[in-house]
Amino acid sequence: MSTRVHPERFQTDRHPCYSIGGSHKFARIHLPVAPRCNIQCNYCNRKFDCVNESRPGVTSKVLSPVQALAYLGEMKEKIPTIEVMGIAGPGDPFANPYETMETLRLVRRRFPEMMLCLASNGLHIGPYIDEIAELDVTHVTITINAVDPKIGALVYRWVRDGDHPLKGEEGAQLMIDRQLEAVAKLAERGVAVKVNSIVIPGVNDHHIPRVAKVTKDLGAALMNCIPLCPVEDTPFENLTEPDGIMMARVRLQSGENLSQMSHCARCRADAVGLLNEDRSLEFAETLQSYTE
Ligand code: SF4
Ligand code: SF4
Repeated sequence: MSTRVHPERFQTDRHPCYSIGGSHKFARIHLPVAPRCNIQCNYCNRKFDCVNESRPGVTSKVLSPVQALAYLGEMKEKIPTIEVMGIAGPGDPFANPYETMETLRLVRRRFPEMMLCLASNGLHIGPYIDEIAELDVTHVTITINAVDPKIGALVYRWVRDGDHPLKGEEGAQLMIDRQLEAVAKLAERGVAVKVNSIVIPGVNDHHIPRVAKVTKDLGAALMNCIPLCPVEDTPFENLTEPDGIMMARVRLQSGENLSQMSHCARCRADAVGLLNEDRSLEFAETLQSYTE
């Protein structure tokens, strides 16, 4: 039988991203150990942070696992309310599996009480799911923008599995298969799975409720619909950001199947502090000092 996350590890009321009450009291920190990515989303410009979980426009410093552990030690002293350590880029955690898994192992050993969290596009998380559960990573976000390859082909320019990038519906189908498999396997092991969907007007805004239904049936617990933030030098740079009416409709329709969270702060890959009070700029020099 596969390992399951220990139920006592769930202190979701202390996880700022999963609990509105907790978001005012408890802080999270992202360790930016994952620079590479294995896909190209049409809304992403790699000069900037991953928009899975990030506010575009500012690049992050990248740390090695050992540097990241030391940085976390200092930040935990500076901000004792840090309860959650997450890895969310600036690329994808599992395009950098050694760095991601080693960081999780080091943090689990040094900070046994810390809640661990990951955000990934899901393409290459599969082989690591057993160890993720063994390490008691309680919360994992998978960004799923489509469950139909025709729509996925509009969102992903290419998907790399092995040496060759797959394009069009072929790439999108692989992406969707891996993502849905990951949701089911994580949920089976007791991990709380959140689905992030980027709402792209005219591309997937009417499709996201379907994403909610399919992922709910596989065990997802929560959904976070994030409005597209058009970024320059991307195929979606000229799309308009979804307005409040569109976001309300998408959340309402998706919420019929999957609980919605609405206090997401689009955190940077090096975010630190309370959700609504990111302090990454304040501590940029501290982060920088660990890269030297
Ligand atoms: Fe960019 Fe993140 Fe998409 Fe990778 S998964 S292309 S880093 S938005
Ligand atoms: Fe986890 Fe995402 Fe919150 Fe970071 S922003 S702690 S990865 S849920």
